[in-house]
Amino acid sequence: MVLSSDDSVSFDDLATLGVVVAHPDDESFGLGAVLAALAAAGAGVRVVCFTQGEASTLGPSVGLDLVRRDELHAAADVLGLSRMRLASYRDGGLGDVSPALLDREIEADIAGASLVVVFEPSGVTGHVDHRAATAAAERVAAQHGLPVLEWGVTPHVAAALNVEMGTCFVPLDGVDVAVDRSAQLAAIACHESQARDNPVLIRRLQLQGALERVRFREPAALKAEPRVDTPLGILGWLAWSFPKTRSLI
Ligand SMILES: [Zn+2]
Repeated sequence: MVLSSDDSVSFDDLATLGVVVAHPDDESFGLGAVLAALAAAGAGVRVVCFTQGEASTLGPSVGLDLVRRDELHAAADVLGLSRMRLASYRDGGLGDVSPALLDREIEADIAGASLVVVFEPSGVTGHVDHRAATAAAERVAAQHGLPVLEWGVTPHVAAALNVEMGTCFVPLDGVDVAVDRSAQLAAIACHESQARDNPVLIRRLQLQGALERVRFREPAALKAEPRVDTPLGILGWLAWSFPKTRSLI
């Protein structure tokens, strides 16, 4: 696969992504722009979502799990994801599930991937489910010798949100990549129950602009990030780091 003429690099190694999230909407509200770009480039994007989102922080309601399941599958189609698997662990309770059980749940989904994509280890918002989902994915990735792409927010975005909205966003020390948000915004609209009255999401996207903060990790150690003056797109940046990193394993 050859990327844009600007990047002019081959990207043959990136065939299948194993994505692990905690809630329906994490794949869109958080990872949407990154996953859409990778899917559009031809990667098979397989997502596992641990919970059905019945305990939404915007307010639970009867039947919300079914509503959110349908919203999730609609968003997956918009993002171009190749597979979406929804498990049924208790929303808000992933921290109480044994790590071994969570690992087994996603083992088959991750084993054949070439790259694992997750929220950064603090869960971005600090949510216990986000932290547990990422921890499981990173344990299984390490067992299979797979690199991990973590998504998060910059110190500037985290600080602004925490001051303005009273949130607990945790900043990620990584690099900024340029993204096109059009597919992500369409996927967000599919999650009507969660996007309808969500000022934090709106403000975060405003603060982020056309950039996403990511970090690329090898299984055993943090790789030095490429530093560039002008942010590359996610594809160009991954193409820069991915083959080199793989060759070191
Ligand atoms: Zn979430």
